[in-house]
Amino acid sequence: MNSRRDFLQKLGLSALALQLAPLSNWAAETKTIEPAYDGPMLRVAILGLGGYGGMVAEAMRSCTKAKLVGLISGTPSKIKTWQAKYGIPEKNCYNYQNFDNIKNNPDIDAVYVITPNGLHRDFVLRVAAAGKHAICEKPMAVNAKEGQEMVDACKKANVKLLVGYRMHFEPKTLEVIRMRQSGEFGKIRFFQGQCGFTIGDPTQWRLNKQLAGGGSMMDIGIYAINGSRYMTGEEPIWVTAQETKTDPVKFKEGVDETIQFQFGFPSGAVASCLSTYNMNNLDRFFLDGDKGFAEMQPSTGYGPIRGRTHLGELNQPVTTHQTVQMDEMAEIIFNNKKPVVPVDGEEAVKDLKLIDAIYQAVKTGKKVEVSI
Ligand code: NAD
Repeated sequence: MNSRRDFLQKLGLSALALQLAPLSNWAAETKTIEPAYDGPMLRVAILGLGGYGGMVAEAMRSCTKAKLVGLISGTPSKIKTWQAKYGIPEKNCYNYQNFDNIKNNPDIDAVYVITPNGLHRDFVLRVAAAGKHAICEKPMAVNAKEGQEMVDACKKANVKLLVGYRMHFEPKTLEVIRMRQSGEFGKIRFFQGQCGFTIGDPTQWRLNKQLAGGGSMMDIGIYAINGSRYMTGEEPIWVTAQETKTDPVKFKEGVDETIQFQFGFPSGAVASCLSTYNMNNLDRFFLDGDKGFAEMQPSTGYGPIRGRTHLGELNQPVTTHQTVQMDEMAEIIFNNKKPVVPVDGEEAVKDLKLIDAIYQAVKTGKKVEVSI
């Protein structure tokens, strides 16, 4: 491959131009060659072969430390299609009735639960009882009490419980966190997280209280909650929240359409966030300190994530979030690697406590003190 110098010289650029040309984009486009991985491979079965499960399966094709080896589904035809697509042997395929037998399968290390939210708790409890590591999609449960039950069950079974917080491995997000930790933004004063989209089909599970656990807050608002914690580096001590519902037919009792919420942090910093199922173009984080700022848009979508700070554009590499997440989870499971921002069950319970507090604040109209 041509070196950068050869490339620029072919373009007829002078030595001066070589010095002036920004290195950052070049660095972002150039892959560092790492020695081939020869550690253990995390062998994963996906439970719930839906839209996001399909995305995770595709992303795992590029993993070096994790591999899709098993399937769990209530739909036999999906199992057949996925088996052919990913070369999964019959002995690693289960349905929802018989998958407890996975405990006798030495070729599967972990089960990744990617079903509607309301089913996460029961499936994870069964994964733990089968002695397999559990990876679970967000929101990990529909309230903090259920989330804590999952944490306790996995601890008791001596298996890990990890949550699909893919942004915790995203390079531009990690750079903003690094800058905040090193004081580049000074004292943090304010965070703003705006997360939402216009939801379609009114019959889908995301608008069913039983299966979703709530509405936009459970699905997309959780990114603003989680982001307000990792961007500021603090845990909220109080919550206020207000709900707006323009379509009570589509968004029934217990299914929130739009909620604005505010957090207060011990340092005096505040957060102001919006979660909605009724507006597009909302995928934005803003972090403000007394010496600088970071702005990300898109901030939590599948990418590419874009952002800038008071020092200029963020140029960290664009990654496939789920590929990096699964490789990092292999390191967490096998080598106890500590990610910069945790992705374990305890981390998820903190978000669930805040969701509980937001719903309580909406209901009572009062400021809710929290300790998480
Ligand atoms: P989906 O509807 O596309 O897929 C859900 C799957 O669960 C389907 O295969 C469905 O057959 C199965 N299922 C099992 N029991 C079911 C039941 N009783 N009712 C309905 N479906 C049932 O949904 P999705 O978008 O794949 O979301 C699944 C989970 O993944 C959710 O928890 C969601 O929050 C999460 N998710 C995370 C991300 C992310 O970026 N981390 C993105 C999308 C979805």
